[in-house]
Amino acid sequence: MHPKTVSVAVFALLACLSFFAQAHGGPAEEPSPEWIEAWTPFASAPYDLDEEAERKIGPWLDLRTGGVATGPMQSTADGAQGALVDGTLLPAKGLGFRRVSGAEEAWGTGHMISLIENAAAFLTTQIWPGMTVAVGDIAMQFGGKYGPHKSHQNGLDADILFIGNQSWKSVLDDKGQVTERFNPEMNWAFWRSMFDQKIVENGKTISVISMILVAPEIKNFLCTWGTKNGVFKNADDLEMMKRIRPTEGHDDHMHIRLRCSPHHPLCRREGIASDLGCPASP
Ligand SMILES: [Zn+2]
Repeated sequence: MHPKTVSVAVFALLACLSFFAQAHGGPAEEPSPEWIEAWTPFASAPYDLDEEAERKIGPWLDLRTGGVATGPMQSTADGAQGALVDGTLLPAKGLGFRRVSGAEEAWGTGHMISLIENAAAFLTTQIWPGMTVAVGDIAMQFGGKYGPHKSHQNGLDADILFIGNQSWKSVLDDKGQVTERFNPEMNWAFWRSMFDQKIVENGKTISVISMILVAPEIKNFLCTWGTKNGVFKNADDLEMMKRIRPTEGHDDHMHIRLRCSPHHPLCRREGIASDLGCPASP
């Protein structure tokens, strides 16, 4: 079934169920405001880009097939979960990548799985010959909250070890300093290759990357490294840097969050950080 048809069917089913519940004196429980927001279709302008135009701006992205994200990426409220419909399982290994988590947590949307596969293939063939990207948790087959994660609910979040590493070991030393286990050039090259995959939202062409979470120490390190080496030289580099958000718990892996596919109308879209996120200069 076409992803859009599935989404519309799910939405219609939920509307029917809610009507049935009301009409038959069903549970009086109010849905949380977060849940209501999660089910608001996001498109405020008609989306009419054809397949060929999409392939030109995001050649690595399978936006139309391979899994539909619905609801929020992240929520701790009861009942407010994201879901994944007809998701795709990342293979145990492929050109330039291997899974380091179980198959039950390696499901994603079509654009997440295609992005990981293509970015890994690009890295190992064009940037760092022979390098293997180690991919951790993405989402469960049908989405929802699981394990220690607050997110990873609808197939748009993925944990990936920092490029060059094959085991879950911090790239910080015991004083919180970034060590040589973190290679800024290679990680930046990997991020930029993914950042350059674009989608259209409300008529605007933007990166498919919503955010990349790294430990605050790593973000600060990147601020200094990028400024010193003239990395932030154009608008795309600055936009990339804004999307790298300092978040505790990410000192042995990066967490990549994608934007909703324009073909997933029930996916809850979130904002984009507007600040560079670097500490103010002294
Ligand atoms: Zn994560």
